Amino acid sequence: MVQLRKASHTQMKHWRRHLHQHPETEFDVIDTAAFVVQKLTEFGVQVHQGIGKIGIVGQLTKGSSTKAIGLRADMDALAIQELNQFSHKSLNDGQMHACGHDGHTSMLLGAAQELATHGDFDGTVYFIFQPDEEHGAGAQAMIDDGLFERFPMQAIYGLHNMPGMPAGEMAMNSGGVMASEDNFKIVIKGRGGHASQPHHHIDPLVIGAEILLALQTIVSRNIDPEQQAVVSATEFITDGAVNVIPSTVTITGDCRSFSEAVQDLIEARMAQLVAGICQAHGADHEFEYNRVFWATINTPHETQAAGKAAVALLGQEKVDLACRPKTISEDFASMLRVKEGCYAFLGNGVDSVGGCMLHNPHYDFNDDILETGAAYWVTLAQQELNLSA
Ligand SMILES: [Zn+2]
Ligand SMILES: [Zn+2]
Repeated sequence: MVQLRKASHTQMKHWRRHLHQHPETEFDVIDTAAFVVQKLTEFGVQVHQGIGKIGIVGQLTKGSSTKAIGLRADMDALAIQELNQFSHKSLNDGQMHACGHDGHTSMLLGAAQELATHGDFDGTVYFIFQPDEEHGAGAQAMIDDGLFERFPMQAIYGLHNMPGMPAGEMAMNSGGVMASEDNFKIVIKGRGGHASQPHHHIDPLVIGAEILLALQTIVSRNIDPEQQAVVSATEFITDGAVNVIPSTVTITGDCRSFSEAVQDLIEARMAQLVAGICQAHGADHEFEYNRVFWATINTPHETQAAGKAAVALLGQEKVDLACRPKTISEDFASMLRVKEGCYAFLGNGVDSVGGCMLHNPHYDFNDDILETGAAYWVTLAQQELNLSA
């Protein structure tokens, strides 16, 4: 089992709290990226900057093998006002590391330092630091900028802390592990008028109600029961008044699933239902269906590799090799669409610190798991690049 040096944990905690105090969002992770570049350079890791606007790839080669793996962390924070009062709370008003990307960045830096200075392996490790995970654009930006052509690797791995899971335990699953997210907007264009004379109008409110109920049949009547999906209408907006039948109704919502085939089916059925019901009542309509995140689909061989490294590090009892998929979404999915790999979870804790949910203004990354996360990266890299940990 990999044992990181005591100094490493102290350093990672220091880095993590520094990043927590200075959160940056979207692609504007200027100081965070500079911090990562400075550390990688100090460790003697070759640095490639500006990939996907501001993404960074650290390249570390040892031995003569052409084998290579990618380890990925996200650097961005959220536009949330932090409500914690501890000394390392955010100094940037309205911005906060509420998803633990400060911890992810620090753990990957810790692994880079360990592998650069002490770790033995045969091949190349790429340390990938991406911007804008939260809006689902950072991973694709790095891919579009040639991530996998410029830095050829056999597989890529990701890691996310998970509140509600015991601190330092790990979980993963082969196949769909996090859901896709699609957003939809339906606009029903009727003909409004006086509430007392409905026979002169085309009432979009009644049509909208019919559509709202029909949407409930997509999952229950069209999706294979062995597949999972969520269709949630979340807004129903009209321009009516207490004595006015509206002219327009807008319904918006959000869909989750674990395969592109299910996404296609949901979109097609929704389009048919909306068009059919509107036509039946003589109303016009507009329909938009936008794919925001792909489903995160782990490949079997790489999930096995990730599980083996986690078990070697923590023991069988602390690793769930077949965890339940989660309906939250993650833009590492874009990387897994074009490269084999595995996205795993690391328990952030269940108590008052680590148990606070992601994206909550009271959330904080649990510093006690920094060493486990970094050691997992080191173990995985050494295992996959021929030398055992
Ligand atoms: Zn998040
Ligand atoms: Zn996150």
